[in-house]
Amino acid sequence: MFRIIKQSKKSLARCGELTTPHGKINTPFFMPIATRGAVKNLTPEELNDLGAQIILSNTYHLLLRPGTKIIKRAGGLHQFIHWDKPILTDSGGYQIFSLRKNILQINQQGVKFRSEVDGQLISLTPSKVIKIQQILKSDIIMVLDDCLPHLNNKKKIDLAEQLTTHWAKKSKQAYTKLFKTVKNKQRPLLFAIVQGGIYTDLRQRSISNLKKIGFDGYAIGGLTIGEPIAKTYQILDILSQQLPVNHPRYLMGAGQPEQIVQAVKRGIDLFDCVIPTRNARHGLLYVFNHRVQSLQNDNFYQKIHLTNNKHKDDRRPIDSNCSCYTCQHYSRAYLRHLLMTKENLALRLLTIHNLSFYLNLMAKIRQSIAKDKL
Ligand SMILES: [Zn+2]
Repeated sequence: MFRIIKQSKKSLARCGELTTPHGKINTPFFMPIATRGAVKNLTPEELNDLGAQIILSNTYHLLLRPGTKIIKRAGGLHQFIHWDKPILTDSGGYQIFSLRKNILQINQQGVKFRSEVDGQLISLTPSKVIKIQQILKSDIIMVLDDCLPHLNNKKKIDLAEQLTTHWAKKSKQAYTKLFKTVKNKQRPLLFAIVQGGIYTDLRQRSISNLKKIGFDGYAIGGLTIGEPIAKTYQILDILSQQLPVNHPRYLMGAGQPEQIVQAVKRGIDLFDCVIPTRNARHGLLYVFNHRVQSLQNDNFYQKIHLTNNKHKDDRRPIDSNCSCYTCQHYSRAYLRHLLMTKENLALRLLTIHNLSFYLNLMAKIRQSIAKDKL
């Protein structure tokens, strides 16, 4: 299900092909975020045109609203949201644990918490989380994990890593049982989540335990959540030595364009982040610096703040070298006007450009690896 097509001679970067029940993904790849089943402001057709190969939805949010019954009756998440390419569903661990005040109980069996929507009591076990993702017909299933915020408290991180590993074991058992009669091609992939914070020994223990259980892919959780970026790269350097080479690796929630490049060089294959879509909605736009050819140079891109007065009468597109729909038809002045007057069209047009930038960045990364330039 994962094939390395090209290993760079210059770094640990690799181009791969990941096969899922809804098609193949060329890696390294960036997953646009569709938390509640929609990438904010875009239709699936627009996502397709931008070259999105896979989107990321969230089990926890879909469980709260609209609930699994409605999605099941629609025939699964793909049918419900009109998207026929792969979908990765995050387990919701990150979302549950980021609202700690709502958690009533957490132990080896699972987690009990109050819904942030209506206060309803919800109980999730590792196996229930797998079952929900089966109902959603997700292509890549994530295990439930205990994801702590960035902490310098080793004891707490240690306990969270132990719990994550225990839950991973339970998740694998549930997954094996649920999909034992499903043919390999229709079988969703199961990804584990490596935890352990900024502590190298805990990270190493986490990987070693998860490898023993055995997963289709390995995600790295609990990074780029506020720790110094040098520490992030240091942890990635260590992880890249230990993660199984022939399995896809996914750095959750990262990141800025230069961070993606740095992670790719350390052997990461999959990414997701709210940055391009969220920043677009605030008028923060990404453009390639066409004077800098190499992605090795962190100045390969720059940011444009569209709300800045200097763009008030700026007749240029966001990026004259960009082939996206927005840059082909609209000036910075018009886009700024839409944004300042709170026209919904601004959100759509700016999201198109930023996602186009991110997906083009991934294409450039794959080309650079193919030529041993990264
Ligand atoms: Zn553009």
